[in-house]
Amino acid sequence: MSIANNLLKIKSTLPSDVTLVAVSKTKPVSDLMEGYEAGQRIFGENKIQEMAEKWEQMPKDIQWHMIGHVQTNKVKFMAQFVSLIHGVDSLKLVQEINKQALKHNRVIDCLLQIHIAEEETKFGLDEKELASLLSSNEFQELKNIRIVGLMGMATFTDNKDQIKKEFTHLKSIFDQCIIHNSQFTILSMGMSGDYQLAIECGSTMVRIGSSIFGGRN
Ligand SMILES: *Cc1c(COP(=O)(O)O)cnc(C)c1O
Repeated sequence: MSIANNLLKIKSTLPSDVTLVAVSKTKPVSDLMEGYEAGQRIFGENKIQEMAEKWEQMPKDIQWHMIGHVQTNKVKFMAQFVSLIHGVDSLKLVQEINKQALKHNRVIDCLLQIHIAEEETKFGLDEKELASLLSSNEFQELKNIRIVGLMGMATFTDNKDQIKKEFTHLKSIFDQCIIHNSQFTILSMGMSGDYQLAIECGSTMVRIGSSIFGGRN
């Protein structure tokens, strides 16, 4: 199967209110261009340097999503062009994104990453940290960052019940947030192995890599 075929097949199964992020990390520009030619305009990368290089080389109507963990000192390399940052999980990072966005006279959209998995290694806020970030004065003063939703990753397991439990948990946190934050519209959850389940649980944005571009080394 070609990249274009994979992409169109997946797109045909997604509900119209679910956005597809084509996760192109580690893949060459030629692979991304195949997706682009097939109509894809949203690409997800997890390394800022790699994303910036691809942004420079590729058509400018692409929306670049940063889906990986972000180091504060690298925000400046994407502030000019990034369209959504998925993995924001500290006030310090929020403040740096705001500062760099201001330099470019932009408002950068971000998702807060919530820790829903069992593994200790995955980044993200717990519910308390989320509530305290959203209600802090430091956060509310910022004008150049807009939090538009939440992102999470389920435990890496074959146990569907567990994954479902974690996605459902994230959806319930999201529903709580919506009540107080009218700009919350995006719930980013679901990857190649679990996106159908994520959609059943209320995902509005899926991040799919290997099912489109093939496996990574
Ligand atoms: C790599 C990655 C994906 C895509 O994973 P696939 O299993 O290849 O679909 C999604 N989300 C994040 C945060 C990733 O790092």
